[in-house]
Amino acid sequence: MIIGVNCGHTVSGTIGSGAVGILNESDETRRVGYALMKLLREAGDTVIDCTNDRAESVTENLRKICSMANARKLDLFVSIHLNSGGGKGCEVFTYDGRKLPQAERTLEEMAKLGFVNRGVKDGSNLYVIRHTDAPAMLVEVCFVDTPSDAALYNETGAEKIAEAIFEGITGRAAAANEGGMTMEQYRELDDRLKKLENPMIYNYIDSNMPEWAREAVQWCVDSGIVQGTGDGLGLDYDKLWTCVVIYRLAKKLNK
Ligand SMILES: [Zn+2]
Repeated sequence: MIIGVNCGHTVSGTIGSGAVGILNESDETRRVGYALMKLLREAGDTVIDCTNDRAESVTENLRKICSMANARKLDLFVSIHLNSGGGKGCEVFTYDGRKLPQAERTLEEMAKLGFVNRGVKDGSNLYVIRHTDAPAMLVEVCFVDTPSDAALYNETGAEKIAEAIFEGITGRAAAANEGGMTMEQYRELDDRLKKLENPMIYNYIDSNMPEWAREAVQWCVDSGIVQGTGDGLGLDYDKLWTCVVIYRLAKKLNK
């Protein structure tokens, strides 16, 4: 899927930045939004980051967000916000209040984390809902100025909230929850893969280089056949063998 993700407003403290209460909307939407983008990318989805950090006005900020979202055909546009004004829980705005399955699932996943489900609401008058071409949803995660919401948010953490939104919009479990591989096992596997990808490279004719190759490589270097780079000779195992073959051939021809 191709998903456009917008971290609500401009950066904190600039024109068009979000609500500030116990939580700072600009900062937290970036934590949630970028964690969500990471999850989507790791799952193989294409992410278009529709976040605008700075603008001269709120209108310019909104226009920029929509032009990023409309630059290519998206399967879904998701805007992340935090609410303010006193209230409790999570709500999702869609065009005409359409009950998009992605919106309803997001609310269900957020409810599992303890956030009150305030339902899908009519967001037809919201700029980013009205002016984006793709099916769009705007998530108001919770209220920045409600102490119990702020406490639940801090306790839960942006990553878990991103996972809830990921599961909501994709209908798939976040990768971290499945597969049963521990972090330690993952690191070990990753290590092994890296070793496979980066086989031994011989840069110098020294005791690290297999003895059977040293004389041949030295001859190849002396005769200018192997020149190397500024970082050394850069020879892998196959190239060592090539040097040996060239060396033997040269000796044979000289006889
Ligand atoms: Zn907002």
